[in-house]
Amino acid sequence: MEETALRQSVIDACLELTDIGFVYGTWGNISVRWEDGMIITPSRISYEQLKPEDLVYVSIDGRTVRGYNTASSEKEIHRLIYAARPEINAIVHCHSAYATAAADIGDAIPPITEEMCQLIGGEIPATSRFVPSSHHKELGLEASKSIGDKNALLLRNHGPVCCGRDLAEAMITCRVTEKAAKIYVVTTRKEPAPIDPEWVADGRDYFLNRYGKEN
Ligand SMILES: [Zn+2]
Repeated sequence: MEETALRQSVIDACLELTDIGFVYGTWGNISVRWEDGMIITPSRISYEQLKPEDLVYVSIDGRTVRGYNTASSEKEIHRLIYAARPEINAIVHCHSAYATAAADIGDAIPPITEEMCQLIGGEIPATSRFVPSSHHKELGLEASKSIGDKNALLLRNHGPVCCGRDLAEAMITCRVTEKAAKIYVVTTRKEPAPIDPEWVADGRDYFLNRYGKEN
């Protein structure tokens, strides 16, 4: 696929995530592998306004950035997973409700549906602790370490990261992850673990004063 069409396919996928209620506002991000890095959605621009040229290119080592917007604040999750997993060519991070509920419980979701085996490779692991989005590098390291050889991951108290060999596959992985999480949450009825008060205050400060301004 040529670059502009690929960029447009990312925008179309963003709009689909909004349509199906997996993302509200700009809390989500999508990337595709491109050249020796990735093309990723920018920070803080609503999906309805996105144009292909708004997306940002980031090299695999993070040193080269092309584009006039700031790359998504969660770019390190994407970048480090691409670096660790050469077969993955698309990553979708959303904040869908049941996958986030499962991420609040903090368990790995065991392989409870056939689609999980086929698309995800078995269980959906979870990061071992909450890392705020403001700690980009730490969150990226935690994610790339925790996902192992699976195609989906739950970020504690945050949401799912879903991968595929192409964008269409990553989008299906999102739906399969949400369905598995729904089954797990509804059938186990476990209590969610809240975010520590210090991180609640930090999250509010990040949103008001730092979001979209930091790299
Ligand atoms: Zn997020």
